[in-house]
Formats: sequence, structure tokens, C-alpha cells
Amino acid sequence: MDAEALAARNYPELARQLSRAQAERREDDEVFEVENLLEDAVAARASDLHLDPREIGWMLRMRIDGAIVNVLPVDAGPGLRLINQLKTMAGLDPVATLRPEEGRFSYRLDEIDLDVRLTLVPCLNGEKLAIRVLRPMGTWHTLDDLGFPQTETDILENWLDAPVGMLLVTGPTGVGKTTTLYTLLHHMRYSSRHIVTLEDPVEYDIDGINQIAVNNQVGLSFAEGTRSLLRLDPDCLMVGEIRDQVSARAAGDVAATGRTLMGSLHSRDAVAAITVMRKFGLDDVEIASNQEIVVSQRLVRRLCPHCRESTPIGAVDRRYLERLDRAQPETVWHAPGCAACSGLGYLGRTAVFEAWSLGVEDHGLILEGAPEQALRKHLANRGHASLLDNGLRMAAEGVTTLGELRQAGLGMRGQ
Ligand SMILES: [Zn+2]
Repeated sequence: MDAEALAARNYPELARQLSRAQAERREDDEVFEVENLLEDAVAARASDLHLDPREIGWMLRMRIDGAIVNVLPVDAGPGLRLINQLKTMAGLDPVATLRPEEGRFSYRLDEIDLDVRLTLVPCLNGEKLAIRVLRPMGTWHTLDDLGFPQTETDILENWLDAPVGMLLVTGPTGVGKTTTLYTLLHHMRYSSRHIVTLEDPVEYDIDGINQIAVNNQVGLSFAEGTRSLLRLDPDCLMVGEIRDQVSARAAGDVAATGRTLMGSLHSRDAVAAITVMRKFGLDDVEIASNQEIVVSQRLVRRLCPHCRESTPIGAVDRRYLERLDRAQPETVWHAPGCAACSGLGYLGRTAVFEAWSLGVEDHGLILEGAPEQALRKHLANRGHASLLDNGLRMAAEGVTTLGELRQAGLGMRGQ
């Protein structure tokens, strides 16, 4: 099937909207400009653009709400001009090279400063260009904006009011852990606390906070970085990702000095963070005496509010709920697609959260070396809302679908 037909089949409304925009521009100046491309990307809520070489010309793909969408074929002439224009803006040599190249530039569009990052990779048919469009942190400044439910917001606000010990944000890569950490930092900076961050790399500038980038080339490793940071005498330290024994050890040592520590971690859910910290060499006493809050999160697409409707539950959803031993509703939410959501049925993304505030009994169980399953059972008994509980509630409310929860891996392997 040719790419145009494929795009039309997958996303007819998006393809129509963009074809129309392109056709209008061709009449104007016959050039597919960078500005138009970035405008389309922002209008379509795309985080990444891909120009994939074909036998002749390129295929423009966009990542919208986390899913790749075939958008439009771009002819050889305009495609090459576009790539050269982008390379020049990013300070790269327009001559095609045999090695992958990276560059970036900032671009002001409608009073918003976009951070545009290019990666060029030579392929069989020509150069492949991946473009990441980063918007400033702008409006994501409250826990509510991120999608934290009331109970979880209360847990975090209580902690922010008098932060102690260690707060970890957990989940797989690309689910917005950094955004959550930054949002918490934003809240914290209004306090009189001295906050320092050690990041790899520094992703967003925040006024009023000292941010330091890890730089292994000049000897500023994670462990070395945390040691120098302690000399700055901070009340709170944010360390980005805890990914191995060295960084876990450094984090544990910081917390042991009575300072507040925030960081992210890869783990399936909140409770699994304890297992990961044990694997990284922290003992149960250290974990029990320092661990205060574990947030776990996943990203799901948000159902389009303009075309969502309730339909009888299908076999796949039925089996999913059966396997989880959860109640089966008669109907579920579904969105067929409309002009507002470019026919995708989804509009934007939101996070599913779990926030575990460790109580005396939880600390006691950790000290006794209780395994993950025992902790999880104890939490369920005391009415703690798990990642899955919150996800199922959002699906029942029509915020997202059960299919999105499955995509995000919720309810898999005993979570
Ligand atoms: Zn819609």
C-alpha cells in the first residue's frame, strides 16, 4: 500500500487537515518551510517528528500522545530543502555525511520558545531525520495538572509541607517521572529551603534552584557530584535517576545525613521500589529509616471528550477484568474519532498515579525483610489505592480506556 493511502487509512482526519494546510502553502510560496512544519507539529500536539527516507522523497511521521502516526509523504525537492534548512538552523553542515549527527536550536513560535533537537542518521535511501520538539514547562505546575487524584495530592502536599527522608518517583522510561520531580521542586522552591539538583543532563532550568549537570568527562560523576553537593550544605537534594549500586549508595548516604532526597527509579510499582533498593545494596534498616514516599506512574492516552461514548463491554476487556478478579461493568467507554481529535479517538495524555506514604507498620514490615507480595497485601488491606486501582477508576470515569491500561502494563505480573 502506498504511504498516502496508508496515512489516509490510519488517520483520515489528520491527513486531511495537514494536506489542506500544505496545499494552501504550496499556492503561496511552493516551499514547505520549517515554520509550517513546527506549527503543524504543535497544532497536532506532536512530541517528535520523523522524516523517513523512501525510494523517492520522505514520509513525515509524528509521535502524538505517545503513538507514531503516518502523516504525509513529502516530495524529494521540498523534503531536501526542508532538511537542509533544519540542518543550517541547528548549525550542522548541509552536506550529507555517513555518520549520525546531532544538533539543536531554539525557535520562537506564537510567543513560546521551542527547544528543537535534531538527530540525523544515514539510511539506505537517504538521510533519516528525527526531530524532538520540547515545549517549556509552562502550564504543568500543579499536582492537579499532572493528573494526581485528591488522595495522592494530599499525601504529597503533606510531605511538601515538612519534607523529610527520601521521596522516589518510579516507573519505566518515558512516563513523565522527571516532570513529576520538577513539579514537586517547583512547589518546594517557595519554601525557605536550600535546594540543589544533580542531573544528567539538566532538562529544564528552574529559577531559584542550583542545578548541576553530571559530567563524567571532567570527573564530576554521580558519586563525586553528590559528595561536592553535600559541601554546599543543601536541605534538599534531587539526584535524577538512581540506576545502580553507586547511585543508590550515594542516595542512601545523603539521606543518612538527615537531608531530604528526591530521585527517580525504575520499578513496576511503588512497592517494587523496595526490592530494587535492596538489590542495589541498601539494607532493610537504611530503607526503613529513610524511605518516606514512593510515587509510581504510567502515562495513558486521554479519551477525546468530544466523541467518547459508552458501549457494551467487549470480550478482550471482559477477559482482562476477569483475570484481575475485578467487577465487570455492562458498558465501557470508547471514542470513534472526530474532527477535534483528528480521528484518533484520544486527545492528549494523562498519568495514572500511585502515592505510597510509608507508615509505621510499613516500616516495621520492611525491617522484618517482608517480600514485595506481603507488603502489597498489607497495603491492600489498609485501603491503599494501587496503580491498578487508580487506573481502573479512570477507565470507569471515561478518562481513558481499559486498552490503554493494558498498553501501560497495568495488572500484569501481580501488580
Ligand atoms: Zn474526538
